[in-house]
Amino acid sequence: MTPLAQRIASQIAATGPISIAEYMAICLLHPEHGYYTTRQPLGRDGDFITAPEISQMFGELIGLCLAQAWLDQGAPSPVAVVELGPGRATLMADLLRATAQVLGFAAAAEVHLVEASPTLRAEQAARLSDATWHDTVETLPQMPTLLVANEFFDALPVRQFLRNGAGWRERQVGLQDGALAFGLSAPMPPETLPDRIEDTQEGDLVETRPSAEPIAAAIGRRIADNGGAALLIDYGTWHSLGDTFQAVAGHEKVDPLAAPGAADLTAHVAFDEIARAAAPAVAVPLTPQGAFLSRLGLAQRTEALAKGLTGDALKTHLSAARRLTDPDQMGNLFQVLGLTPPGAPPLAGLDG
Ligand code: SAH
Repeated sequence: MTPLAQRIASQIAATGPISIAEYMAICLLHPEHGYYTTRQPLGRDGDFITAPEISQMFGELIGLCLAQAWLDQGAPSPVAVVELGPGRATLMADLLRATAQVLGFAAAAEVHLVEASPTLRAEQAARLSDATWHDTVETLPQMPTLLVANEFFDALPVRQFLRNGAGWRERQVGLQDGALAFGLSAPMPPETLPDRIEDTQEGDLVETRPSAEPIAAAIGRRIADNGGAALLIDYGTWHSLGDTFQAVAGHEKVDPLAAPGAADLTAHVAFDEIARAAAPAVAVPLTPQGAFLSRLGLAQRTEALAKGLTGDALKTHLSAARRLTDPDQMGNLFQVLGLTPPGAPPLAGLDG
């Protein structure tokens, strides 16, 4: 048993079963034993690998999309360049390097990072010379904002509800013979999720992400009021249906209850929830990551970088490009939601 499993079991024994969201929050961000608080999970030697860790081209192309939005909106100065959950700061480092060629951008940019993990903040500080850290989006500055979040929302806790007759039951974590086990709450009324009664049937499972709403609202308000753009990239779909709660450790899927605090816990992002909460900012239609990167010139950039490479380095580079865009790899699983102020020019690479 991990130290956290012991604590969670004692808590449940004392006060009863907890929601999936509460379980996720404890496992990921417990101050002493949480997954993100205590470790650096990213990369080949870690538990999982993300797009910016696969290839520098990911951060570069995101940088160019955001810099284009900045130019299209009259190159406001200063401009906040914001990342939520920057991990090892690889994406931000690649973005800043690529946009250094855009006249005036570097001088206008102020880097702001929202990061909960002290371990990852230290890593980010080592990679970026000049940045300001925030615990939450609420303290981000009120100014034109270019924001990116890659695999951030998927780490925010979800609640799960199972359709039960005319109402719902919430999926919970409880105890069975002393071990953590999934269970269901007592029946809850239809009003628990009023807008999902019409499109679900007995036995369907729906996920909601309560903490994403205030975050999306704060981003949307800043972009609508002050200008800028946001790119929110994650695995998921427009609308939630079905159980997507999963745990990954050592690049393998594991039982989410087996080792609390020692495995990454995520659930797919339902982008409709975020788009709705971000109003009055305008949500650009959801675009698959593969199409987005290809339109921004991934093939040309792949070729240009390939010229300097041979042997294994070249092979790794070419397979990284495929991994980011291939429909069977990350190309369709990952989706991009763009946010712009009402009336702003469209964002490069996105549908619509
Ligand atoms: N964007 C990076 C890292 C993704 S991992 C990449 O693509 O490689 C998720 C990141 O979000 C980590 O940096 C984690 O510490 C951070 N994070 C998770 N929950 C958070 C929260 N509630 N508030 C702030 N940061 C959080």
